[in-house]
Amino acid sequence: MDCLFCGIVAKKVPAHVVFETNDSIAFLDINPRNPGHTLLIPKKHYETLMDMPAEQAGNLGEDLKTVSAMVQKAVQAQGISIVQNNGKAAGQVVAHAHFHVIPRFMNEGPVALESIMPSKKIDDASMKNIASKIKGSPKPVKTEKKIEKKPEKKPKEDDIDFNF
Ligand code: AMP
Ligand code: ZN
Repeated sequence: MDCLFCGIVAKKVPAHVVFETNDSIAFLDINPRNPGHTLLIPKKHYETLMDMPAEQAGNLGEDLKTVSAMVQKAVQAQGISIVQNNGKAAGQVVAHAHFHVIPRFMNEGPVALESIMPSKKIDDASMKNIASKIKGSPKPVKTEKKIEKKPEKKPKEDDIDFNF
């Protein structure tokens, strides 16, 4: 298959690798948005996050935390943005699932999501409708994890205010 990131996994395409496990690899983005901008990918080819089995996605999530901490320390970042695009409409250019780990600094100007995607006004009835559609949407089947779950802490009533 002709996939650029599979080429990096196979060490056929050069990259500045900063982290590697049996299942994942992280390397510097060739067009860094800031010094230390890193991409974390699963070694196995999945086009998007939703294509990944839950267990692999979970493990990649752990690696994401590790790599974020490594990058933050290494470049003394004051913040870290995690960006993850799925599909062309979301701006995904390389069709191999990946997380951007982007160091952020206070002197950069507008930093919030608002600056790249201005918010839209959606009336409350539509918000309710969208929320119930998402809640009723089928969840992908999860594979059993061998991690013992701690008993869930019951949230205090005033901690939750989703309004639907
Ligand atoms: P996305 O738009 O989320 O698909 O991001 C793809 C990213 O891959 C872009 O930020 C590119 O700069 C980056 N990229 C493309 N080719 C390479 C490469 N050979 N090595 C490292 N990063 C790359
Ligand atoms: Zn690939």
